[in-house]
Amino acid sequence: MRRTSQLAIFHGPGQPFTLETVPVPALREGEMLVRNEYTTLCRSDLNTFSGKRRERTPTILGHEIVGVIAELATGAPARDARDRDLRVGDRVTWAIYASQPNSWLAKVGIPQKGPGLFKYGHEPITPNSTLHGGLAEYCVLRRHTPVLRIDAAISLPVMALINCSVATVAGSLRLAGPLTERNVIIAGAGMLGVIACAMSRCADARRIIAVDIEDARLATAREFGADFTLNLRSGGGSLKDQVERIIPGEAVTVGLDYSGMPETMEALVGVLGVGGIAILIGATFPQRPLQINAEQLIRNVHTLKGLHNYNEQDFIAAVNFMEQNHQRFPFASLVVDRFQLASVNEAFEFGLKSGAHRVGVRIGVGC
Ligand SMILES: [Zn+2]
Repeated sequence: MRRTSQLAIFHGPGQPFTLETVPVPALREGEMLVRNEYTTLCRSDLNTFSGKRRERTPTILGHEIVGVIAELATGAPARDARDRDLRVGDRVTWAIYASQPNSWLAKVGIPQKGPGLFKYGHEPITPNSTLHGGLAEYCVLRRHTPVLRIDAAISLPVMALINCSVATVAGSLRLAGPLTERNVIIAGAGMLGVIACAMSRCADARRIIAVDIEDARLATAREFGADFTLNLRSGGGSLKDQVERIIPGEAVTVGLDYSGMPETMEALVGVLGVGGIAILIGATFPQRPLQINAEQLIRNVHTLKGLHNYNEQDFIAAVNFMEQNHQRFPFASLVVDRFQLASVNEAFEFGLKSGAHRVGVRIGVGC
């Protein structure tokens, strides 16, 4: 009997999701069908829902997903990105993108912007493509999608975080370079910021300073490895002065911005010592241009890099990190696990109102 799939369709900001049932399409050569088990709502999903960012509609949101292989078409990959077997029944996570693997962008490590790009949880529903997001019972994985099998006993809400949050943070640490003996400042203690604290801790950073405007989020950052926390609203003085007070005489040479706030990014660059690097990750919505002092940038030999999404190397690093450290930090505490596909409207409303690090949506049979 032909499979059907329930899916939650997003029609635009301010409009409720509608739950519909569609036939699961016959797979094309090279494709893989996954039965979604769990999806966490990324901040960009919430921003699309609220209208802060735009997406072509109708669409299926949700790109932090974990599921189980339900079907492998002819020519589907027999091995994953770590060269492990892939079989029906295996639990997998997959990258947010599929793109042509031999392009120049793919060769220089930016496949997530390469030609033929297809992004899960971001594409419009068309007659030829319906199941390509996390808020549906099934997802069709296209050719050239990096897939990773996960055997470790990681809970579904925690595993779902891998293919956006953890992989993006892994990408920002790749760009920052080795952290050993370096002081790191992390702006924005939301999901990415606290994961960055944990990954920096495991990468042997010297001192980790987390910056935010909410004490509760800073307390979470400490649970995930931050040595010091600074509240930008109540700390007193400039960020540079506050950093100087907590680590006098020491240089900060890595700045990671997940806040996306222009004044915070400017302050972050202003804190960096000679040879410092700032990686900007959070500003994925329209905003004013940054004011950067070019003379300071030149005299201090600073590097400024931007990163959107991640590549296969980062994705693998994310899975490796979570397999090794999922019990070292309280990741499960970051996900509110009480919603199902049928209560997707409530999940989004809760995500916007609560300020929770993540809201999870359990998908599938028995939920
Ligand atoms: Zn995301």
